[in-house]
Amino acid sequence: MRRKLAAGNWKMNGTGNALSELAELAQQVSPGDAETLICPPATLLFPACERMRGTPIVIGAQDCNSEDAGAFTGDISAPMIADSGASYVIVGHSERREGYGETDATVAAKTRAAWRAGLTAIICIGESGDDRAADKTLDIIADQLAGSVPDTATGENTVIAYEPIWAIGTGKVPSLDQIIEVHDFIRNSLITRFGAPQGTAIRLLYGGSVKPSNAAEIFTAENVDGALVGGASLKAADFTPIIKALS
Ligand code: 13P
Repeated sequence: MRRKLAAGNWKMNGTGNALSELAELAQQVSPGDAETLICPPATLLFPACERMRGTPIVIGAQDCNSEDAGAFTGDISAPMIADSGASYVIVGHSERREGYGETDATVAAKTRAAWRAGLTAIICIGESGDDRAADKTLDIIADQLAGSVPDTATGENTVIAYEPIWAIGTGKVPSLDQIIEVHDFIRNSLITRFGAPQGTAIRLLYGGSVKPSNAAEIFTAENVDGALVGGASLKAADFTPIIKALS
């Protein structure tokens, strides 16, 4: 049985004051709820882990370098993330693929770095609006899965987030049938590649304009094991009903 996961990606939002939102969230979430993860900006990793110790909320980072250490000014490594007390890292978010030229090979290398540090990688994939209009969604997803997910992925070390680029921050959400189609396709691809035990164990998240108002419907899809939430994860009052919709 896959444990449901509600993951919040704060992106480049949040200074020290935002830790009070975390404290508020920790009061709302109980151990029986879906696993709850917040990925704050790197500057907040250490204090967030400190504040969330002893609560059900776990902390992750939004990116890591593919190397463990070295001359990479401005970057943070997977061992640094693990040192902060975080247990997850997002890799291959479309904002990094598009804005920083990350390829599937980069994402696979970052995933392997995450694993070396004992972190669970949340590997993001998703088609652009043009890809969808050209009916290429499943081809794009197949390519990204093949190129971004290394061969030794398991249910423990990997989560896959399907985030259609055109749905991120736009208020547009695919129809439930479209979400089901892509998530079922990802599940079947994983089972074909990794075999049933691991292919079935890897959790699949939907991301892109998830809100309290649409979460419950999205979560009816059998192969949606949770959500990767941007804007609606910034405030405990918005994220809490999304978490509860998974419970
Ligand atoms: P929004 O929920 O703000 O659309 O962002 C989704 C996302 O990119 C999460 O990683």
